[in-house]
Amino acid sequence: MSRTTNLETAEMQRKAGISEKGWAPMKCLVTGGAGFIGSHLTEYLLDLGHEVVVLDDFSTGSELNLARSAGHERLTVVRGSICDADIVKRSMAGVGAVYHLAAAVGVFTILSKTLDSLHTNLRGTETVLEAARENGARILVASTSEVYGKNTKIGLTEEDDRVLGSPLKSRWSYAEAKALDETLAYTYAMEHSVGAVIVRPFNTVGPRQTGTYGMVIPRFVSQALAGEPLTVFGSGEQIRCFCHVLDVVPALIALLEDETAHGKVFNLGSSEQVSIGELAERVRTATGLVSPIVQVPYEQAYGPGYEDMQRRVPDCGRARAQVGFSPSRSLDDILASVIAEHSAPTTAEPVCVPR
Ligand code: UDP
Repeated sequence: MSRTTNLETAEMQRKAGISEKGWAPMKCLVTGGAGFIGSHLTEYLLDLGHEVVVLDDFSTGSELNLARSAGHERLTVVRGSICDADIVKRSMAGVGAVYHLAAAVGVFTILSKTLDSLHTNLRGTETVLEAARENGARILVASTSEVYGKNTKIGLTEEDDRVLGSPLKSRWSYAEAKALDETLAYTYAMEHSVGAVIVRPFNTVGPRQTGTYGMVIPRFVSQALAGEPLTVFGSGEQIRCFCHVLDVVPALIALLEDETAHGKVFNLGSSEQVSIGELAERVRTATGLVSPIVQVPYEQAYGPGYEDMQRRVPDCGRARAQVGFSPSRSLDDILASVIAEHSAPTTAEPVCVPR
C-alpha cells in the first residue's frame, strides 16, 4: 500500500481549513502512536518531515496500525508503558513536541478494567507531563468529550458545566480521570510555563478504529458485513456527532504549533447529529445488506446501573477561530471509508517491535 504523500497531506490540511505554515522538521513523541488516532497522526507527522518516536504498550494499539510507516527511516517505535518514568524519559530525549494520546479507551475497557484504566489515565499523564517539563518540550494532551457527562446542551462549549453521575459508577471514572488530566496539563502550563494544549475530541472515527472496546461505527459495520444483527444499545434515540480522524489530526498539529493556543482547551468534532438508531439504518443502507437491527437494553450491554449520555453535540467555534478547524467529511464519507476498510483484505505487513 502506498504511503500518503506530502502533496496529499497538504491537501488534507487545506481541506481541514488549516494553513500550511508550520514548524521546521523536529523530533516528536506520540504516546499511543500505535492506536487508532495515534497511528494516523504518526503518518501525518512523518509526511510533514518530522522525526517521530512512538511510545505504546500495544494493549489496545496494534503493530498493524503502523504498517504504512513500517521501516520509515524517521520512525522509532518503543514498546512500553507511559507509567514507566524511565522509558518515558528515554523516549523524550531530544523531543520538541509531545502528542499525548496514550490512554485506556473504550467503554468496555473502562468497565472491565476500571482500576488499571485509572492508573494509566492518571499516573501515565502525570509521568508524561513531568518528562515534558524536564525536557522543555511542548505537549498536547488528549482529553475527551466524556468530560461533559450528561450535559445534553446542543453546542457544548469548552466553558459548559460537567454533569456527571456518581464517582462509584465505573463509566464516569474515565471522565473523572480525563478531567484531572486537563487540570494537571493546565497547571503545568500555568505554574511551570509548559507549552501545553488540551483537546476534547467528540466521537472521532475512521479506518483502523476497532469495535472490540465498544465503539459503535466499527461494530455496526462489521456486524452488517457479517450478516449479523446490528445491536442498538438502549432506545437508539441517543445522539452523537461523528468526526473523521483525518479531519482531527491536522488540528492537533496546528494547535500545538500555535503558542497562543497553549494553556487552553479545545473541542474537536463535527456538528452533524445522528441518533444511534438512525446510524444503524444508515450503515445498513451504505453496505447494501439487510441485517436486522435489534435493541439491546443498556443493562445487558454494559451491566447493571449503566448511564449513557443522551446527546453530545459540540460547538467547535474556539478551534475554528484559533486554527481554522472545519471538518470536511460527512457521516456518509465516514461510513464509506470504514466500510471500504472492513471490506478489503489486509495485505499490509505489521511494523516489527521488539518485545
Ligand atoms: N452503541 C450501540 N451499539 C454498540 C456500541 C455502542 O448502540 O454496539 C451506542 C452506545 O451505547 C452509545 C453510542 O452507541 O450510546 C456511542 O458509543 P461509543 O462507545 O462509540 O461512543 P461514546 O459516545 O459512548 O463514547
